[in-house]
Parts: sequence; structure tokens; C-alpha cells
Amino acid sequence: MPEYIIAPSIIASDFAHIADEIAACESAGARWLHVDVMDGHFVPTITVGPLFVEALKRTTKLPLDVHLMIENPERHIEAFAKAGANNITVHVEACTDLEKAIAQIKSLGCTAGVTLRPATPVSTIEPVLSKVDLVLVMSVNPGYSGQAFMPEMADRVKELRVQLDSVNPKAHLEVDGGMSLKTIPIVKKAGANAFVTGNAAFKHPGGSAAGVGELVSLLAG
Ligand code: ZN
Repeated sequence: MPEYIIAPSIIASDFAHIADEIAACESAGARWLHVDVMDGHFVPTITVGPLFVEALKRTTKLPLDVHLMIENPERHIEAFAKAGANNITVHVEACTDLEKAIAQIKSLGCTAGVTLRPATPVSTIEPVLSKVDLVLVMSVNPGYSGQAFMPEMADRVKELRVQLDSVNPKAHLEVDGGMSLKTIPIVKKAGANAFVTGNAAFKHPGGSAAGVGELVSLLAG
């Protein structure tokens, strides 16, 4: 079972003070920075692209965990890899050839992740479970920050934990959406080891270091 990881979703941070936000994540014990890339097609919102990832890379030594919520991710994988992504996760719904996309990510020296919308059956990603480094369970519908956790996704985490234990026990099992002090213990118990946190990390009344610090302490406890 891989280590426990808090991965703050940097798009929920204050972009006007991004260097301070990153420093807060680092000092509070975040292990990865999660980057939610949205294209206005696969999801309605537009967020950031490779230039942003490249700027992050110059600002932090934390691994960059890039989640592509974009159509035809194959067309942009190389740009994100060159920008400094350490992990690239693609949606099964967005790829024309999922296995090829995963091979492309790995050939560029990144680790590869796969993910799916809450309404997409787990069976769609089963053929690649042995080939990825990370499986991401979306516990909200992708596209917006700040949504509530869908409790039924804990069963999906459990199901995937069992499958990964049999075919690929070293893979990370990450959850994205509505993660907080209240919901992380639920999915941790179900078998997840990495937790993407948006508002819980960056909208804490005590500031981002306090927000991330509380979440990191929760995992240590
Ligand atoms: Zn994400």
C-alpha cells in the first residue's frame, strides 16, 4: 500500500499570491500539487494549461500531479510532460485510445493515471488497471471546484482497492472532489491513499498553511 498523500488542488488557491500558496503547501507537508486542467469542452470551465504547469515547475520541487479534464488529451500530453508534469492522468471518456494515451505518457518519462466520471462504470478502466501508476476516483462531477462529496463513491474506492490489490498493488488510489476533514477518513478507510483537496486546503480561515496542515495531521493520526 503506497504512502498517504495530501495533494492540494492548486486551482482553488489564490492565483494573485501563487508563490505564497505553494510555499504554504510545502511547509505544511503537502506531498504533491494537483493541477486541474479544464478545457471548456470536456467540462464547461476553462482553467489552466501547460504554461501554468511550467511556471509551477519553476516555483516548487513538489511533484506535479496533472489531471487532464480535456477532449483528445493525446494532443496535449507532450506539452504537459515538457512543461514539467510528473504524473499525467487522463479520462477514459476523453481518450480515443486509452492504452495508447497511457503508453504515450510513460514514454515521455511521466507516471500515468486514469480516471472516470462518477457516472462512468468502473469496467471501462479495468483493462488498464495493471498498466497505470495511479487511479483517480472522481467523487464529484468534474468541472467545478467546491462541490459536495458523493458518498456512494466510497464503494467505488473499495471496489478499486480490491482490484488493484490483485493486479497492481503499488498503484496510487486517489480521490478528487469534496475532500475535507470529514470525508477523507471515509475514503481512506475504503482504501484510498491520495487525497486531492481544494477549498479545505485553500479556503481555511487560518490560511492555506493551516488548511493543508490540518489535513496532513489527519492522515498522520
Ligand atoms: Zn483533479
